[in-house]
Amino acid sequence: MKSNRKPSAAAKRTRNEATPESADQQPNGNVANRFIEIRGARTHNLKNVDLDIPRGKLTVITGVSGSGKSSLAFDTLFAEGQRQYMESLSSYARQFLDQMERPDVDSIRGLQPALCIDQQQGSVSSRSTVGTVTEIYDYLRLLMARIAVPACHQCGSPIERQSTMQIANSIHALPIGTKLTIAAPMVIGRKGAHADVLERIAKAGLLRARIDGQQYEIEDLPTLAVRKEHSISAIVDRIVVREDSRERIDQAIAVSIRLSNGLVETEATLPSADSPQFKLYSTRFACLACGHSLLEIEPRTFSFNSQYGACEACQGFGHVPDQPDQVCKSCEGKRLKKESLAIRLDGRSISDIAMMPIAEAAQWLSQQKLDEEKSKVGQPIVREIVQRILFLQEVGLSYLTLDRSANTLSGGELQRVRLASSIGTGLVGVCYVLDEPSVGLHPRDTDRLIESLRKLQKRGNTVVVVEHDETVMRMSDLLVDIGPGAGKFGGTVVAQGSPESLAQSGTSITAQYLRGEKEMPASRARPVDQDHPKIQIIGIDKNNLHNVSVDFPLHRLIAVTGVSGSGKSTLVHDSLADSVRKTLAGEPLPKYVRRVSGLEHIDKLIEVDQTPIGRSPRSIPATFCNFWDEIRKVYAKTRDAKQRGFNAARFSFNTGTGRCEACGGQGRQKLEMSFLADVYVACTQCHTRRFNRSTLAVKFKGKSIADCLDMSITEALDFFDAFPKISTPLRCLQQVGLGYIAVGQPSTTLSGGEAQRIKLANELAKTDTGKTLYLLDEPTTGLHIDDVVRLIGVMQSLVDKGNTVLVVEHHMDLVRCADWLIDIGPGGGDAGGTIIGAAAPKDFAARFDSPTSQALRRLT
Ligand code: ADP
Ligand code: ADP
Ligand code: ZN
Repeated sequence: MKSNRKPSAAAKRTRNEATPESADQQPNGNVANRFIEIRGARTHNLKNVDLDIPRGKLTVITGVSGSGKSSLAFDTLFAEGQRQYMESLSSYARQFLDQMERPDVDSIRGLQPALCIDQQQGSVSSRSTVGTVTEIYDYLRLLMARIAVPACHQCGSPIERQSTMQIANSIHALPIGTKLTIAAPMVIGRKGAHADVLERIAKAGLLRARIDGQQYEIEDLPTLAVRKEHSISAIVDRIVVREDSRERIDQAIAVSIRLSNGLVETEATLPSADSPQFKLYSTRFACLACGHSLLEIEPRTFSFNSQYGACEACQGFGHVPDQPDQVCKSCEGKRLKKESLAIRLDGRSISDIAMMPIAEAAQWLSQQKLDEEKSKVGQPIVREIVQRILFLQEVGLSYLTLDRSANTLSGGELQRVRLASSIGTGLVGVCYVLDEPSVGLHPRDTDRLIESLRKLQKRGNTVVVVEHDETVMRMSDLLVDIGPGAGKFGGTVVAQGSPESLAQSGTSITAQYLRGEKEMPASRARPVDQDHPKIQIIGIDKNNLHNVSVDFPLHRLIAVTGVSGSGKSTLVHDSLADSVRKTLAGEPLPKYVRRVSGLEHIDKLIEVDQTPIGRSPRSIPATFCNFWDEIRKVYAKTRDAKQRGFNAARFSFNTGTGRCEACGGQGRQKLEMSFLADVYVACTQCHTRRFNRSTLAVKFKGKSIADCLDMSITEALDFFDAFPKISTPLRCLQQVGLGYIAVGQPSTTLSGGEAQRIKLANELAKTDTGKTLYLLDEPTTGLHIDDVVRLIGVMQSLVDKGNTVLVVEHHMDLVRCADWLIDIGPGGGDAGGTIIGAAAPKDFAARFDSPTSQALRRLT
């Protein structure tokens, strides 16, 4: 599998010719057609990896954290796919190619255009919603524009329009002998003197006008009171309907439409009647009662990103700009103009529809009874919408609404929204690369996630997934195990094949796990009896939680479970964390919590989440965990430094005279691309070393300060063994399974799971009070089963010291180890929000029925 071939110059030159076309023209093009052939991949820790990924199949890449899965899937396969795509772009894009960090690989043949479905919020704008990201909202706008019925937002009457032909036809239908007046309504109930209107009537050569119901000759027109509302119609013609009056009527209609901008008023006295009937026709969408008219109804009428649709007060944000909590008073958070909101389908505005959980919206739309004409234009659009909603439902997101802001979604939810959209776009011949799509997903929904991945694959795409979930691994066509260890102890393909063959004969940890040979830690089963000390939260009212009360036993390991959208985050991060934080700060409880007790047992709250630890390459594990300054002190004390007169400040890459001038100590330079995300390229001066020459000349135990940045945590632990202020945080990083990351790895390159574990390690390094409440959000993200075992050990030791640890988790091996389980559900959104039960995991599985207890029972 692994070869020691050095990259030949020839290989380097030809590797970029591996476009699908050139690959297909190989003499052995057959093979190139069936596989993406990776040869000699050395990105980060990869050790000359050769791998054939079957095209048009589902491949899962697994391995312990830090083994090189992402280096292979994202930094090699996807990066090269993107590079090859950029090569096919304009020369402007191509000039950056040489500067882009190209993946270190001899060749990749048979590579298809690559798309990455990731969990990063980065590319969603603050205006994005579930509806816009999935394009479902675009279809909904189209549907509304085609078949919705507008109503006047002022008086509520329906607004209709007819073509000129339709208007003419209904007037021609009047019986012979009808006395007909055709008039052009020019003002309908508006305040003002309207001198300009009266002047226009005179200039048009007309002789009479009806003002406020009374008829005037043009020379006798009155002066109108400015402060009063008036209605003015210019009388265009008076005709007695005959066989030959058609042409004259048509002319009058045309004049009227021109004068009044689309309106025609008739006063008709039938031969059999003696009082006239009035009728108003319109070619535009206008309220015939109060005259209010709309511009053309188009899809953009419903767009909160367009001036045609957006509420003027909030510019379509739905809230006061920069104040997300202040709902816009004008549109009440609906983002659209009143005119747009008055356009309704079966009584519902587009915003009403976007506020429904998508599953409900799909059902409601399918059940619309449309007349034949509307059905013809509406049905295909409805089908498109319903289809796309179905894709979202299949990835376990039925509870979402189309108007939900994309930036309030969790990373896992966002990734699944993107997955569903990708299925909706129907692209073929693409290589999709996904990072742990099971994140945040309850085991109940994993099967449907796999079906979605299959759908993408069966359409003719290659799907490559980095995953740890056992069910996903078992369902793959090809399972690739990277390892055996992390960092320099990994980087090889230790096993590959069908999941069955791997489970049968493999020796890797993954294989042992699949065979059920790996022993999982058992629950410590710390008891929680009736009068166990606890934090009690009473009367939570937020999102889908309504008057919910929960007890959290103290000094225990607690797991909170439930399907995606059931309310776990609302319970833990909003209600519990906010209450504790506010109480500790001496502030009043959040509005949506009625009462809290038991907080006297807690003196510290540590929320360890997956948000990045820093957004610039200046933030690194060493700075975040506060041992970088200590390393600098060690260097300042060396003979080399003293001779040169360098103090600790000299060894900073953020400020001062020691750092590389060209990149300001970042080691990289940012290229801003107008069409892609920003790209970081190696600094041409220091080649990622961050420091200038004379600083780098200072050595401690033979290593420069930049060498320290390149060390893995494990190497650094050995190197700085004699310095407790440095080795203690390093040891904590190793304990949480991060021994493989580099001391100076820019935090922009860390995954959410890694960032979370760095924060956890940072907290471990501090002296804990024994009365600390730790909240962790799916800490197993990105962790192989082997890492999970270690993580459970860390959490147990925190509880042993008297602390309380609460995890929101889907990983049932971890859930089973908890002392206490709180399950919320049963479904997502409105179908959730109820506490199913709280018990020790074993009792829970026996006593309650829910997706969680089913998953627990399957384990044992
Ligand atoms: P996995 O995806 O299996 O968790 P990665 O591919 O992310 O592993 O990491 C493999 C090794 O490469 C690790 O030692 C990691 O620290 C290192 N690494 C990852 N990204 C970078 C990077 N941008 N620069 C340098 N080293 C990196
Ligand atoms: P879980 O953590 O179990 O996935 P959440 O607590 O995030 O569930 O969500 C519970 C419900 O509240 C869902 O219906 C979700 O759509 C809704 N919700 C969560 N956060 C927000 C938010 N910021 N804005 C609107 N609705 C939200
Ligand atoms: Zn530099």
